[in-house]
Amino acid sequence: MDAKVHELLNQQINKEFYSAYLYLDFSNYFEDAGLDGFANWYMIQAQEERDHAMLFYQYLQNENQKVTLDAIAKPDKTFAEHMDVLKAGLEHEKYVTSLINEIYAAAYDVKDFRTMQFLDWFVKEQGEEETNANDLITKMELFGSDPKSLYMLNQELAARVYSAPSLVL
Ligand code: MG
Repeated sequence: MDAKVHELLNQQINKEFYSAYLYLDFSNYFEDAGLDGFANWYMIQAQEERDHAMLFYQYLQNENQKVTLDAIAKPDKTFAEHMDVLKAGLEHEKYVTSLINEIYAAAYDVKDFRTMQFLDWFVKEQGEEETNANDLITKMELFGSDPKSLYMLNQELAARVYSAPSLVL
């Protein structure tokens, strides 16, 4: 495997674990705020990010490439209001999309078609992640300011259940 592609894939393990840690912190924020549905939604998001990290980990191992685990950064964001958390989530997903695109571009440059095919799933996944984050912001804009509506939205988010990623390596 090309050295740059290898380095970027290895870094992405860390970035995905950081995403899990960040969303766990978001879940923690909403648990403190008494919004258990929002806490559940971000807890499941954290589980999905851990799965993403493991897919990169597994892919490198399958390709007989060395995996190096690095320190996971501290989630250090503080929020003035609930909406700030949702917006930070969308910004983070846009950032992750840029990372996936960067790896894809590096793989494309060296005609690493297998890595490109592996990354195809993540390209689609990032589209869904951004849509989900956007939808949550829209719902919060519509319903967040009225306590009864916020309660209903919280109930809706409480119903989100975890499912394993559709990509199997
Ligand atoms: Mg991810």
